[in-house]
Amino acid sequence: MNNMVMPAKSMVALPELKLLIDNRWVDSNSGRTFATINPSSGEEICQVAEADHADVDRAVSAARRAFDRGPWRTMRASERGRLLFRLADLIERNADQLARLEALDNGKAVSVARVVDVAKTVACYRYFGGWADKVHGKTIPIDGEYLCYTRHEPIGVVGQIIPWNFPMLMMAWKLAPAIAMGNTVVLKPAEQTPLSALRIAELIMEAGFPEGVINVLPGFGPTAGAAIAGHMDVDKVAFTGSTEVGRLVMEAAAKSNLKPVTLELGGKSPNIIFEDVDVDEAVEGAHMGLFSNQGQSCCAGSRVFVEETVYSKFVEKSIVRARQRVVGDPFDPATELGPLVDQAQLDRVMSYIDAGRDQGAMLACGGERLGERGYFVQPTVFA
Ligand code: NAD
Repeated sequence: MNNMVMPAKSMVALPELKLLIDNRWVDSNSGRTFATINPSSGEEICQVAEADHADVDRAVSAARRAFDRGPWRTMRASERGRLLFRLADLIERNADQLARLEALDNGKAVSVARVVDVAKTVACYRYFGGWADKVHGKTIPIDGEYLCYTRHEPIGVVGQIIPWNFPMLMMAWKLAPAIAMGNTVVLKPAEQTPLSALRIAELIMEAGFPEGVINVLPGFGPTAGAAIAGHMDVDKVAFTGSTEVGRLVMEAAAKSNLKPVTLELGGKSPNIIFEDVDVDEAVEGAHMGLFSNQGQSCCAGSRVFVEETVYSKFVEKSIVRARQRVVGDPFDPATELGPLVDQAQLDRVMSYIDAGRDQGAMLACGGERLGERGYFVQPTVFA
């Protein structure tokens, strides 16, 4: 049976809960707020300002001013890099609080958030900080008395829309390269997980980024997200999330100013296990591929193809390993698997389990919701 660790007390200092526009914390234009939920309990953590069209307009104007007229435009590339290094240092200094915020808001184990999400976030800002003054074009030999060369220039105001599975890391992957190259940004975190983005926004201010360069707007997809994707004065949009919404983002970009889009969408990623493996190691690797981050990764290995000669052994050992997995309170150091992020995700996963049963797969272990509080599911294996 799975060991369910009971919730421990999780004291975490909350960040500012407003919108960051032009280096100021502001309420939303509508005055509306929304609840962010603790997935371990299903209870509200706090209310966060809810951005919509009017706030996106304000943030895009600030980002445009910063791009066209602010000190950002003339700042040396090496200085932009230094700001990213400073932000990385501040994130590192606040690693424990950030890991706890991620555990509270997303449900992932705090021990994992510390060594994966926070550590990789720091590395990402440092990596792109290093690139800031190293991007160059080409000189191209041509006939005649001409100098022919290319230059890489920033695009302008970049809209960024991110999901909830690796909130602060997704923010880093979007922000760091855009900022390193001299763009300005309007970023919307996922409505399920705004807290780490808001804490990082505080650190962005502390690092000393000029006004309007980075604007952070918590809010919902069909309102704030759609306003970013369809905005006439956003020069590019970068999106990570579902394939369905990726289509909407591309459509909005096409119907507005034909802005270029970068889409990072969902997938299905099988592992293949051959008979010459060490089965214990293969089980460990396959389980890591599937169950890490509660299975909520775009590249989760949710299907495993196993060569027939080792199939039974693999399934047997998989059942044992799945049953040993410690599910529970993300703040307990023993926890390997926290809750899913929200009720919608719990319903979705339970519907996949039902579909597996209905379509004749053999439920080898798990398959049930765990407890009645929060969004926990038993590690589940079908054969
Ligand atoms: P989602 O597409 O519903 O939401 C992602 C983001 O898009 C959120 O910020 C949301 O508010 C916003 N959004 C929603 N509707 C919008 C609209 N009409 N216009 C603009 N923005 C809108 O994603 P989800 O289902 O909550 O997240 C999980 C999905 O993300 C999975 O399919 C997963 O595979 C995918 N994902 C992919 C990667 C990757 O790197 N390829 C990484 C993480 C997640």
